[in-house]
Amino acid sequence: MQITGSMVIGQQSVFGSAGTVKAINPATNSEFEPAFGLATNDNVEQACQLAAATFDSYRETTPEQRASFLEKIADNILGLGNTLIERAHQETGLPVARLEGERGRTMNQLRLFAKVVRDGVYVSATLDSALPERVPPRPDLRLRKIGLGPVAVFGASNFPLAFSVAGGDTASALAAGCPVVVKAHSAHLGTSELVAKAIQQAANDCGLAGVFSMLIGNGRQIGQSLVAHPAIKAVGFTGSRQGGMALVRTAAARAEPIPVYAEMSSINPVFLLPDALKTKGAAIAQGFADSLTMGAGQFCTNPGMLIALDSPELQSFIEAASAALQGKPASTMLTPGIHKAYSTGVERLNQVSGVEVLAQGQAATAPCAAQANLAVCGAKDFLSNVDLHDEVFGPSSLLIRCKDLAEMQAIAEHIEGQLTATVHATAADYAIAKSLLPTLERKAGRILFNGFPTGVEVCHAMVHGGPFPSTSDSRTTSVGASAIDRFLRPVCYQEFPAELLPTSLQDANPFGIPRVVNGELTL
Ligand code: NAP
Repeated sequence: MQITGSMVIGQQSVFGSAGTVKAINPATNSEFEPAFGLATNDNVEQACQLAAATFDSYRETTPEQRASFLEKIADNILGLGNTLIERAHQETGLPVARLEGERGRTMNQLRLFAKVVRDGVYVSATLDSALPERVPPRPDLRLRKIGLGPVAVFGASNFPLAFSVAGGDTASALAAGCPVVVKAHSAHLGTSELVAKAIQQAANDCGLAGVFSMLIGNGRQIGQSLVAHPAIKAVGFTGSRQGGMALVRTAAARAEPIPVYAEMSSINPVFLLPDALKTKGAAIAQGFADSLTMGAGQFCTNPGMLIALDSPELQSFIEAASAALQGKPASTMLTPGIHKAYSTGVERLNQVSGVEVLAQGQAATAPCAAQANLAVCGAKDFLSNVDLHDEVFGPSSLLIRCKDLAEMQAIAEHIEGQLTATVHATAADYAIAKSLLPTLERKAGRILFNGFPTGVEVCHAMVHGGPFPSTSDSRTTSVGASAIDRFLRPVCYQEFPAELLPTSLQDANPFGIPRVVNGELTL
């Protein structure tokens, strides 16, 4: 498939007329072909109107139709072959093997949501029969969940496939029965066009023209117009705190406010408990250095903060972690902007009073390459300086040295909301771990024992979410089967004639989905 610089509006390929922009190869810091046409406000209008017009028919497709559509998208993405991987590699600097793995993950997500749609649990079908003899009589009441309406999706720069055009937000919104309008991330425009066309083709083949569009344009103008458009009923976003909060404010200021599910900033604290440091400090140090530098540290679950009690074992850990980190080569970051933000962030962090640099990775030799950075400060410094709490997106981590458990507990209490919190512990540490847990449950969406937070499994039990600022809505997850709940709302049908009931609520249960009938789960 050719990259033409076009966006996708339903079944049309449209070259935007509001100017052009080219992709940048971060490995060389140079532009490359072709030029991409930027959307006008008319294009936003067309995409949104189309999404609104198809919503009612799309949400009433059968589970099989919608599941097949999601599977067809997965097949079409695989069908793009090396063209997709090579373009993504050029645009993001991410290694080919990593991108191949990410493509597999993207297809698994689409297939997971196909299974979720077929299983039908997400519908929450609930039937309460009429009780005419009761005083007062109870009417026949039936509940199901339906899609919220057209969803605007802002893909992430750091996962050009799995969190982008056909990523988790798009897959879960389409699964919920919501048409999707994507705002392509400027960091991987060609990759976005290829994937958008794979979705467009799948929609065409499945008779679902119009349920998907992708716009190319500046976030502050086209992205803002999209979120402000009355046809859009929810937003999925992954990116910076500033970008996410700008969209939250726009959505809240609309005549009809809408939910924004923004995944933003997280430093993912890792608590190193005393016996774990004593018995396996060297192994933890190696695991930490590997996790910190994976993908140039550009993971939302990157371990950006370590917390430990001062001790000879901590000193040994520091030596092992420093040695492991010093061997790590600098790797290319996703965009010149992200690289600049990282370099400035590290420089600022290292200059804060009380902060001492412990180790750095190998120096950068390419334009956008990031050198890993491990620094240390005392608990009191951290507690008294909020500048130390900010995410530095990239391979940078700050070790907080605590003089006692009370300080460790105070750190846990003081940190902002997180996607993850990790505890390294042996059985001898369980009493300390138990005392930390209630705080960590309040702070994080996923709590790990003896692992590292990078690597987010796509499955039913996953939570990739957490209290603010890790996300704008801690009740949800953006990865895993439950991500579909973000784009659904319940509707109750009272005293409906059988002929007018939605299929999922008919007595005969034609879709064969699990339902709660008069308070009992029926399978
Ligand atoms: P970003 O600047 O927040 O951009 C994400 C998307 O939102 C892009 O499509 C962007 O449009 C759009 N956008 C940005 N500001 C907007 C606004 N005010 N109104 C409407 N749309 C807006 O994120 P990024 O470019 O991916 O990376 C920048 C920084 O974000 C990184 O340095 C890092 O700190 C953070 N980040 C965090 C995570 C995480 O998972 N926690 C992931 C990625 C990045 P354009 O394409 O036009 O810019």
